[in-house]
Amino acid sequence: MPKEAPTAEDLGYTQNNEQLLKNEYARDKREASSGAFGPKFFLPQGGNSMVRVLPAHANSNGAFFHRIEEHAAHDNGHFSPAFCPRQVKEPCPFCEEKERLQAEGSETFLELSREFRAQQKFLFNVEVLSTEKGGTGIEDGVQVLKSGVKVKRQILDLDQDHSGGWGDVTNIENGHNLVINRRGTTRNDTEYFVKGVPTRTSILDQFKTAGIPFDKLAPHDLTSYSERKTYEELEGLLMEKKSTLNMQSAPTEKASESGAGTDDIPF
Ligand SMILES: [Zn+2]
Repeated sequence: MPKEAPTAEDLGYTQNNEQLLKNEYARDKREASSGAFGPKFFLPQGGNSMVRVLPAHANSNGAFFHRIEEHAAHDNGHFSPAFCPRQVKEPCPFCEEKERLQAEGSETFLELSREFRAQQKFLFNVEVLSTEKGGTGIEDGVQVLKSGVKVKRQILDLDQDHSGGWGDVTNIENGHNLVINRRGTTRNDTEYFVKGVPTRTSILDQFKTAGIPFDKLAPHDLTSYSERKTYEELEGLLMEKKSTLNMQSAPTEKASESGAGTDDIPF
């Protein structure tokens, strides 16, 4: 019998890493909130991913993409883009900060205000046909691809290039698969290139061949996308952003010289 009770270390335990747990907690919270929309998001990994962009949802205005606006932000150091509530006619602390800086008038403040403006993003319903790393595929059904302006332009270029032999790329019976090539690994050096696969194919045939039920091909209503944060949550993200930019309650010359904002969304 030991003379006294052992310590946790004696038994083989160690101190909890509070920072690690904090980060994990923040990640769980993020994943839980991003689950609100329902569908799985597809983020192209390194190399080539083959996808089929699907036609417009019945509830949409007939566009096969849905435009949203997001502010680049971080939550406890993790990239956490924030849906701009002004799209649904609600107040947005990021837009308010941008306008406050713009009202200051000087070049320095104007430049800084760009850090707070919303960026256009586009949502697509896609079937993921193959990826270099695997892990997801046609069996996962329709997933949502979120892209920036460049990728959306490249997809639309192919969709409208009728004279070049492309056109109507989203046609489920007779459309084109697209290859999204991701180059680079960090937010700063990542670029995406879209190429069409020349042969037209039927996505229905691919489902049939793979023995996957057709109901998995039902589209998500992208117009219902709302990864909404409360005004208070957005204020928290805004404070983190301002501290990253070395901004106190009022911006200083130093803040704009810090050249932050390198963490742009990769698309
Ligand atoms: Zn906004």
